Amino acid sequence: ARAVQQTSRPDGAPGPEHFAEVELRLPDLTPGTALVENLWLSVDPYMRECMDGDWELDAPLEGRSIGRVVESRSPQLPVGSLVFHRDGWRTHTVLTPGQARVLPRYDGVPVESFLGVLGGTGLTAYVALTRIARLREGETVYVSAAAGGVGTAAGRLARLLGAGRVIGSAGTPEKVRALTEELGFDAAFDHRAGPSVAEQLRRIAPEGVDVCVENVGGAHLEAAIDNLREFGRIAWCGAISQYNDTTPPAAPRNLFDLVEKSGRLEGFLVANHGDAQRELEELLAPLLRDGGFTDRLSVTDGFDNAVEAFLSMLRGGNTGKAVVRLTEH
Ligand code: NDP
Repeated sequence: ARAVQQTSRPDGAPGPEHFAEVELRLPDLTPGTALVENLWLSVDPYMRECMDGDWELDAPLEGRSIGRVVESRSPQLPVGSLVFHRDGWRTHTVLTPGQARVLPRYDGVPVESFLGVLGGTGLTAYVALTRIARLREGETVYVSAAAGGVGTAAGRLARLLGAGRVIGSAGTPEKVRALTEELGFDAAFDHRAGPSVAEQLRRIAPEGVDVCVENVGGAHLEAAIDNLREFGRIAWCGAISQYNDTTPPAAPRNLFDLVEKSGRLEGFLVANHGDAQRELEELLAPLLRDGGFTDRLSVTDGFDNAVEAFLSMLRGGNTGKAVVRLTEH
C-alpha cells in the first residue's frame, strides 16, 4: 500500500515538507480480517492538532476514510461491502470488524456522503443545533466558517429545523456569494474584508443572534458573544483560526457578556454524540435521495494530492466538506 506519513512537527503553519509518501507492507490476511481498498479520504481540521503530538512521526496516520472490501477472511466484512474506518492516508489497509462500520446503502445516496452530511461533519452540525444550542423555530442562526464542511451542513440543517434567519461568514467574496446563492443562507459577509467580524455581524444581524454554530474561535467567538441576544446559545465546535498558533489566543475578551445576557457557551465533541447518528440518517437519507438536500463536497482527485488537499483546506481552499477521491468507481 502507498501511505502518507508525518516526518516532522510544524512550528506554525504546516507544509508539504512535514509529510512523505512511503510504501507500506500490509500484513497477510488472518482469519477475522479483510483487505480494504480506500476510495475516499477525509481531510479535517483536527488533523492539524494531531500533527503537534497525537500522530507518531514516520508511522501510519489516523484519518477517516471510506473503502471497499476487496479480499476477506471475515464473514462480517464480505467482499464488496463499503466500510467507514479510521485508517486513512493510505491506499489499502487490513481491518477487523471492530475497526470498520459496514455502511448502510441508501438508494440514490452516494457513499461519500458518509464523510459529508451523513458523516461526522453533518453530525457535528446537527448536534450543535439540536443538542447543544437546542434551536427553536423562528430563531436567528449565525454560522462561522459557513462555507466549510460543518458550516454548509449547519446552514442547511438550520433551515430544515425551522430557523428563521440563517446568516454566515466565510473568507472570500466567491464563498460569500455561494452561501447566499447556492447554500441557503439569507445573508453573509467576508470575514477577511471590511471592518471587524463583530461589526460586520452587527450590520447583518442588527437584532442579534439566538444561536451560533462557532467553528473559528478567537475574534470570531468574541464577535458571536458580542452579538448574542439574551438567552442566546453558542455551540462551540472548533477554533480553526488557532490551530497553527504557538501562543494562546488574545480573544475572546468579553466572556462576562454571557452573564449579562444569560447566554450559554458550550463546547462539545461529536464523538460523544454517536447516538444522534441514526436520527441524522433518518432525517437526511430520504431528502438526499429526492434531491431535497444536496451534500456539498470539495473533491480533490488522487492519493498523491492528499497532503495538498489538507494544506489547502487549512488555508480556506475548500467550499463544502474537503475530501480526496482515490479511484474512479
Ligand atoms: P472546514 O471545511 O470548515 O475547513 C476549514 C475552514 O476554516 C476553511 O475553509 C476556512 O474557510 C476556515 N478558516 C481557516 N483558517 C481560518 C482563520 N484563520 N480564520 C477564519 N477561518 C478560517 O472544516 P470542517 O467543517 O471540517 O471544520 C470546521 C470546524 O469544526 C473546525 O474548527 C473543526 O475543528 C471543527 N470540528 C469540530 C468537531 C467536534 O467534534 N467538535 C468535529 C468536526 C469539526 P474561510 O475561507 O471561510 O476562512
